[in-house]
Amino acid sequence: MTVRPDRIVADIRIADEACVLTSEDMIDKALSRYPHLLDHACVNDRGETFGAVASRTSVAHLVEHMTIEGQARLSSGAKRLFVGKTSWTNRAKLLARVEISYEDDLVALSSLRAAVLFADYLLREREEESSSRR
Ligand SMILES: [Zn+2]
Repeated sequence: MTVRPDRIVADIRIADEACVLTSEDMIDKALSRYPHLLDHACVNDRGETFGAVASRTSVAHLVEHMTIEGQARLSSGAKRLFVGKTSWTNRAKLLARVEISYEDDLVALSSLRAAVLFADYLLREREEESSSRR
């Protein structure tokens, strides 16, 4: 993670191909902690909100939006808007980059850390559920 004057930049390594994409059940669970995710403004191929792509986008993109919501919740400024961007730095090696604007770097970093841990937890749960179904 790097703090730049205008944004924090996090390079995220996705553990394996099975962890690349989100799924509907994963988003359902994410909403219990980040209830406004689907309403976030978001630049994507299918619509104007994160909800348009939430159940089939990259997990890194989900981390971006969870971080934004975590920050917004802790932000002192009323209705503060944060913007983010997610891209692959190396798709073959499963390396993604998440960039997010911030107000307070410590709040941003802790929101990001919480989002990454929660994404890890969601992926683990999904893996356990799919292996117990087999
Ligand atoms: Zn987005």
